[in-house]
Amino acid sequence: MCGIIGYTGPQACKNLILDGLERLEYRGYDSTGIVLLEDGELRRDRTVGKVAELRQIVGDNHSSARLGMGHTRWATHGGVETRNAHPFLSNDGRLAVLMNGIFENYVELRAEVSANGHELESATDTEALVHLLADAYEGDLVEAVRRVYPRLEGHFAFLVMSRDEPDRIVATRLAWPPLVVGKGESEMYIASFLPAFLDRTRQVQHVEEGEIVDLRPTGATFWPMAGGAAVDRAVEEADASIEVAEKGGYETFMLKEIHEQPRAIADTIGERFRDGQLHLDGVGLTDAELADVQRVLIVACGTALHAGLVGRYLIEEWAGIATEADVASEWRYRHAVFDPRTLVLAISQSGETADTLAAMQLARERGAKVVAITNVMGSAVTRAADGVLYTRAGLEIGVASSKCFTAQIALLTLVALRLAELRWRLPADRVAEIGRGL
Ligand code: GLU
Repeated sequence: MCGIIGYTGPQACKNLILDGLERLEYRGYDSTGIVLLEDGELRRDRTVGKVAELRQIVGDNHSSARLGMGHTRWATHGGVETRNAHPFLSNDGRLAVLMNGIFENYVELRAEVSANGHELESATDTEALVHLLADAYEGDLVEAVRRVYPRLEGHFAFLVMSRDEPDRIVATRLAWPPLVVGKGESEMYIASFLPAFLDRTRQVQHVEEGEIVDLRPTGATFWPMAGGAAVDRAVEEADASIEVAEKGGYETFMLKEIHEQPRAIADTIGERFRDGQLHLDGVGLTDAELADVQRVLIVACGTALHAGLVGRYLIEEWAGIATEADVASEWRYRHAVFDPRTLVLAISQSGETADTLAAMQLARERGAKVVAITNVMGSAVTRAADGVLYTRAGLEIGVASSKCFTAQIALLTLVALRLAELRWRLPADRVAEIGRGL
């Protein structure tokens, strides 16, 4: 997984970009790079390896830059070599680009820019983008992105800056690679994940798929790709604190998160048992619809699927409903047969798991009711579902899931109990007893 960060504002930004990249290190990567605008020129440094090495390479240089972007790369197209590390510059040095994701049609795009006279320095898919943008650029980055975007197939989030627009970063995304904007005092941040700038601001705005976000120190403007008036986007207060992105005295994030399980489970169950009653607010189905469910299909990937396997036992045992748990990446290619009374539970910690999202879309197209179980407010699965049940585990940084896994099981336990209750399979006092036990 790669990480992206960008900054525009009054501060010297080199170190805050490097710090942000370090905060994204937990995601794993193989190379890293930075580009800074200084004295009217785009200055770039890149390396294979850690952010600490990049920091050494950059040294005391570019200390006055107030516009910049950084990247940690997880190679998909082109080997792990410095020439393939992001950011990429246009041949005239005017534009810089970095990306998280993949261009599926990169062979065609690379051939096209090469035929148009651009020299390719790397073996990546991403580099084609900077040359396409260079051809489309007439002094307005938003317009250039608008022209190039329809040419791009795949899934991606990218940032672009120009030496001719010294306080501006423009970005867009398609499919699941995330982008989040941070609003400071006359300064703006953008990153793939909140921890990258959470020590600087907690005021955030989410970037929707297929729109252009235009960052200036004074704020972000969200433009529809097709043109027309800018859309309003609420500024939200991030619900995570910076402590969650730090290890708090533990040797690893994973160890810290293992110890956070009692709290994660308690918060997940929390309000849902009140006055001796079980409430599943947000589930998006009426009690009558839930009582009428004939089959449950749990779709998820990896650890979330394992939580689903536990959920299957509970739903079958308590609610007496036929339940399957299937890996989303396989299920989406089957010709699954649905009854309109099938309930699909889609579980994704991050809410961005591509195969789970695709499975949800399919299930809804075929008429099933889909409920997302996720840990991240406003994430992609929440927009693709009829209802959402949140685990309340807080940000999970460890790649091997711990507290989110147990919180998912806690939540599935509540779903099983609610289904059992509505179908008169468990008496209220037994539900209350299990609730107390939890
Ligand atoms: N596909 C791009 C590359 O290999 C970006 C990979 C990433 O998301 O880090 O350079």
